Amino acid sequence: MNQIPIDPQNAIPVQPYGQLHDSRRLWSRRVHDLTPYIPGEQPRNRRFIKLNTNENPYPPAPGVLTALHQYPFEQLKLYPDPTGQVLRQTIADYYGLIPRQVFTGNGSDEVLAFAFQAFFNAWENQGDARPADRDCIVFPDITYSFYPVYARLYQIPYRLLPLADDFSIPVAELAAPSTGIVLANPNAPTGMALPLAAVRELAAADRHRLVLVDEAYVDFGAESAISLIPEFDNILVVQTCSKSRSLAGLRVGFAFGNTHLIEALERVRDSFNSYTLDSLAQTCANASFLDGAWFEANRARLIATREETAAALGELGFRVLPSAANFLFVTHPDWPAADLYHALREQGILVRHFRLPRIEQYLRISIGTAEEMAELIRVLTVIGTGTAG
Ligand SMILES: *Cc1c(COP(=O)(O)O)cnc(C)c1O
Repeated sequence: MNQIPIDPQNAIPVQPYGQLHDSRRLWSRRVHDLTPYIPGEQPRNRRFIKLNTNENPYPPAPGVLTALHQYPFEQLKLYPDPTGQVLRQTIADYYGLIPRQVFTGNGSDEVLAFAFQAFFNAWENQGDARPADRDCIVFPDITYSFYPVYARLYQIPYRLLPLADDFSIPVAELAAPSTGIVLANPNAPTGMALPLAAVRELAAADRHRLVLVDEAYVDFGAESAISLIPEFDNILVVQTCSKSRSLAGLRVGFAFGNTHLIEALERVRDSFNSYTLDSLAQTCANASFLDGAWFEANRARLIATREETAAALGELGFRVLPSAANFLFVTHPDWPAADLYHALREQGILVRHFRLPRIEQYLRISIGTAEEMAELIRVLTVIGTGTAG
């Protein structure tokens, strides 16, 4: 299996399995060998302008607050509806689907984890031989770093497809023989989106292979592959309430696809935990989809702020990748990214820096409010002047 470290900062002290003398000797081999995902920092002790985890800077829709206030308190004593019927109907109506084409889960991370189990096979080890490329699932070398974590957890052989030098996805190469394709669209942390035609090309290349499209950021300017579902039974689209709906704390994600794909996800869920979505989460997510006016206005102002910020960063000499997401991926020819990260942190602004090959000179900056982004530009201007002087 591919053994590229996900995050060098995250290296588990490597001791051979079975040779630990503390309680870790009780760990399963699988836990011993894991390299868990590290989420962005959630500071508790200091107030930062928080531009590091792509949360939405604005509150959830007012309709969500109303739903919370009207929530029948007594209902908490009952188990939630395991099928999430009300929420699935609302979302199905919203996207022109039927409820059986909709799966709901505890954040899209959980939905993705279920999808890896439902559609990709574990490596049946036959000696030490590495699986051939065509026997691996494939995703870009620069993408959401949870994908390799899931692949390793479920022992699914994977291969990384290098992005082009401009960080675009070489679609024809991604379509080459494999056992599955995982695609974040827009991609993270680049923010760059593939057009719908490219996603269609991937699905059409081999209908015996699933194309898993993670659309965590699609509402900020990319084309959703949901429209391809009637034509392709091998596309599964995953979305979340965490980013565009300001509900990261609620933990609600979705999958959309052919009813048989949804059935597979239900089979995994019901072999693990029938109640992944609590009833408060179902109620609030439902209210969020019913409050469409707020959603449209909110994403429009975020996109406007993104474009203003990109222009201002450009004037400071940054190279800014074209973003269809609620973040910008930027690099500066003269300012090392690690130094900038620390300088910003000292000034109370948190951004994300990945110490990874190819992108260590980049910062990922989430789009906050217009005021927060103005402050970012002000601080960067001061830092820049300091560097020059
Ligand atoms: C944020 C993010 C997710 C996870 O979102 P949750 O629904 O909060 O679990 C999934 N994929 C990508 C690419 C993301 O950036």
